[in-house]
Amino acid sequence: MDNPYKNALAQLDKATKIILKNNQQHRISQKLFLLKNPERVLITTLPVKMDDGSVFFFPAYRVQYNSALGPYKGGIRYHQNVTLDEVKALSFWMAIKCALVNLPLGGAKGGVIVNPKTLSEKELKNLTVAYAQKISPIIGPYQDIPAPDVNTNSTIMSWIVSTYKKETKKIHYNLKQNEIKAVVTGKPIEKGGSLGRTQATGQGGSFALRASLKILKNKLKLPKSPTVAIQGFGNVGFYTAKFLAEKNFKIIAVSDSKGAIYVEDGLNPQLTLKCKKEKGTLSGCYCSGSVCQLKLGKQITNNDLLTLPVDILIPAALENVITEKNASKIKAKVILEMANGPTTPKADKILAKKNIIIIPDVLANSGGVTVSYFEYYQNINNQSWSLSQVEKKLKTIINKATEEVFYLSKQYKTDLRTASFILALKRISNF
Ligand code: NAD
Repeated sequence: MDNPYKNALAQLDKATKIILKNNQQHRISQKLFLLKNPERVLITTLPVKMDDGSVFFFPAYRVQYNSALGPYKGGIRYHQNVTLDEVKALSFWMAIKCALVNLPLGGAKGGVIVNPKTLSEKELKNLTVAYAQKISPIIGPYQDIPAPDVNTNSTIMSWIVSTYKKETKKIHYNLKQNEIKAVVTGKPIEKGGSLGRTQATGQGGSFALRASLKILKNKLKLPKSPTVAIQGFGNVGFYTAKFLAEKNFKIIAVSDSKGAIYVEDGLNPQLTLKCKKEKGTLSGCYCSGSVCQLKLGKQITNNDLLTLPVDILIPAALENVITEKNASKIKAKVILEMANGPTTPKADKILAKKNIIIIPDVLANSGGVTVSYFEYYQNINNQSWSLSQVEKKLKTIINKATEEVFYLSKQYKTDLRTASFILALKRISNF
């Protein structure tokens, strides 16, 4: 298995070489060197009381990568395959992402090695409270602001707020109520969440893709209704599908950890999600137009999905799914990376040779952190924005970042990922 942190550092190196080729200042090379390591890493163990009275121990991390532009910001992942290097990579990408969309935030990430699907609601809460207690001394509205990631959600965020509130009393922080709320984003609306946050990552991805296709219009010549395959049908995969389907894209395949489905006529994301919730599986959820019928689709494997002859391929699950093993078989013209780190550097090279355009994760999925920042801003300033205000501001930010990335890619004659890194590194290192 590829090490995501090594991959992240390889991406940093590639961008650094281009920057230093164009600018030899010692100060710049020193600043870029600093980015090869996180500023702070918390490694801990969470004792969690289980329903049968026993206590289980779960390893957990919080990595605060870089704070040059503002407080650390980044989600918390609960997954059995979490590793410290994965959390380091994700925190580094958060720093790049926040800088790329010009937010006054740094990068962080948290992770707990746990399969949350094996826990009861009470055990999940105990785990979250234990984690929140461990990180409380190093998080805060002006220090580090966590958010949801894989297998964490708004309920988990509200448990973190209440634990943080209790913990901060103990350590005598002098925070106002609205500032305490701002310790995490991705909260339920009634507890200080922002309208539009749940769908923001998928919506931002749809903005980034459409802005990119507009720039690439003459080069790509896609049909009026481009075909799309999406790996992952969680928060990000579903909303990306929904927003693209609304703009006349034809979603012909989606998958989750159990398998993939193929619906030739284009599937209806909402009906597919409803069916999945009812049946507990995507299998057999062949929903197109206003009906779900077995004859409308078929079951395929997750590997089949990645190599379908579609216009747009969207990895929206986990990292390292496009590797040197399958990159040569990919037939899509464009890859929209909604997951973090789905493509390895070796796969990047193979895809570049095939002229496949990659809209990189740090740009494609930056809608999530952008609206997280809106939520934070509203909390700190006691404001409450309408959904249309949020959507309008999100679109402006993503479109601008997309245009800037394409511009730099042309200027430095490099791919969109490296151009994104160059733009972000210029801001982080202030040159
Ligand atoms: P989620 O837990 O809601 O969904 C993950 C989905 O991936 C699920 O449908 C799961 O079944 C599926 N999956 C897991 N393993 C798979 C496999 N091997 N093959 C196919 N599908 C598989 O998580 P999410 O919030 O949608 O996050 C997905 C990705 O997007 C992650 O990489 C995350 O870091 C990234 N991301 C999320 C946000 C956000 O706001 N939620 C923001 C930026 C980036």
